Amino acid sequence: MAVKITSLCINCGSCIDECPAMAIVSADDAPVDTDVTYVRPEKCIECEGSDPRCASSCPSEGAIVWDLPYIVEYNDYYVDGHNKGVYKIRENKKGETLFPAVSPKPFQESVSITKRKTHTSVIE
Ligand code: SF4
Ligand code: SF4
Repeated sequence: MAVKITSLCINCGSCIDECPAMAIVSADDAPVDTDVTYVRPEKCIECEGSDPRCASSCPSEGAIVWDLPYIVEYNDYYVDGHNKGVYKIRENKKGETLFPAVSPKPFQESVSITKRKTHTSVIE
């Protein structure tokens, strides 16, 4: 990731259409057990710098927060989240799960790791 959607989401759906990476799906379409809209971390490209399109369109402050970069350094974090059902990372045609070690994604270096680890709201 990327960004993550929290329980403050009101399921308005605005962010789904805004995402250029088609990384966001409704709760009904989410691959995990959730009541709110879901971001697929393996697809999020952290668009638009520190002002991503999903957060710009979101009416609920705190619904979209920063998550750790989707890079090999944080592979274990996403493997653990996948195993615990926080995320459900897709597989490619070879049957490999698209963890960061297999398919890293761009991230914004200007956003601190502290903000990411504490899941700070994108819109502050
Ligand atoms: S940051 Fe951009 S790419 Fe990532 S989920 Fe939000 S809109 Fe999609
Ligand atoms: S725009 Fe915000 S409130 Fe609406 S579905 Fe997305 S995260 Fe939830």
